[in-house]
Amino acid sequence: MKTALRSRRSISQPLADSDVLKTLYPAHLHGADGYPLCSEFEVFSGSRIGKGIRTKVDFMRGTVMARFTGQLTSEILQHTLQVTPTSHVHDPYFIGLLSHSCAPNCLLDMTHLELLALVDIPAGTRLTVDYALTEDTLFRQFPCDCGSGNCRGWITGRRETVNEKGRKHLLRRAPK
Ligand SMILES: [Zn+2]
Repeated sequence: MKTALRSRRSISQPLADSDVLKTLYPAHLHGADGYPLCSEFEVFSGSRIGKGIRTKVDFMRGTVMARFTGQLTSEILQHTLQVTPTSHVHDPYFIGLLSHSCAPNCLLDMTHLELLALVDIPAGTRLTVDYALTEDTLFRQFPCDCGSGNCRGWITGRRETVNEKGRKHLLRRAPK
């Protein structure tokens, strides 16, 4: 089993030197300690959900999968995640591309800027987080059809109420 650990990475396929330290971030961040390696993660484009991040190796529950970085901004943008109520990290290369799920397989630690595996995650899995765990207010509220038993149907930040569009969506979705 190919399992990535924070302290000991055991990848059974030997990698070319040039690939070993390549990360999803721009070239100047390649080789930075703990950033998401191209040998372990990939960006993919889904037809319905837009871009996402997928694993290329297995990760065990509870492990730190990668550290992340980005530009700090006071604005809420499409690819920002909240660090404090007034500061957000803009990362359009990695965590800004994570998909939402109401039953996510990952957790963002916004204090240590780390992505953690909440469950055992096999290679080839789309990574998901619950946006309401980090965001007070979303860039844009959106419908969810993640398929989990506790799917909320409409996703908001943790400190905002469902908007008009969301109320209509939830009414349409409600079982008769
Ligand atoms: Zn959902």
